[in-house]
Amino acid sequence: MLTVDKASGRATLRCESCPATFTRIIEPFDVQATVTSARNDRWSVQRHAGTWQHYCPDCAQTRMRGKLL
Ligand SMILES: [Zn+2]
Repeated sequence: MLTVDKASGRATLRCESCPATFTRIIEPFDVQATVTSARNDRWSVQRHAGTWQHYCPDCAQTRMRGKLL
């Protein structure tokens, strides 16, 4: 889940499967810059069935492993 406080430019990603969050001040707010920044931090940001899904590095790795098994 991605939430943005446009007044402060603070973008927060919350992992879909655990309480982990990723916060960046992106000013002016730009969703692409936020996604790029999160991916650089090994977050997984993917569009799935029309909605965006965000996973922290730990959960992204677990999901990847699940697919391989
Ligand atoms: Zn997670």
